[in-house]
Amino acid sequence: MRRVPVRMCIVCRKLVPRTDMIRMVKNEERGILWDEEYSLSGKGVYICRKRECIAEFIEGRKFRKNFGKLLNSVCLDKLKEVKG
Ligand SMILES: [Zn+2]
Repeated sequence: MRRVPVRMCIVCRKLVPRTDMIRMVKNEERGILWDEEYSLSGKGVYICRKRECIAEFIEGRKFRKNFGKLLNSVCLDKLKEVKG
């Protein structure tokens, strides 16, 4: 059986199989980009799909400070969609 690589959730810091995570990429010019296909290059930003983690990433003070300005509306809408 092939092992699925794990990544650390940027919010709760748990190691989660990559396939269960949301991946975004931090692009120097374009900010944070949604990367569902794992195809973009750049620094990966991973979040597990837990509601709390997504909510914290969108609304938490710490993440707002670091990523708020970079998050484009496409990403934000997608995150809200996953969060439900
Ligand atoms: Zn998490």
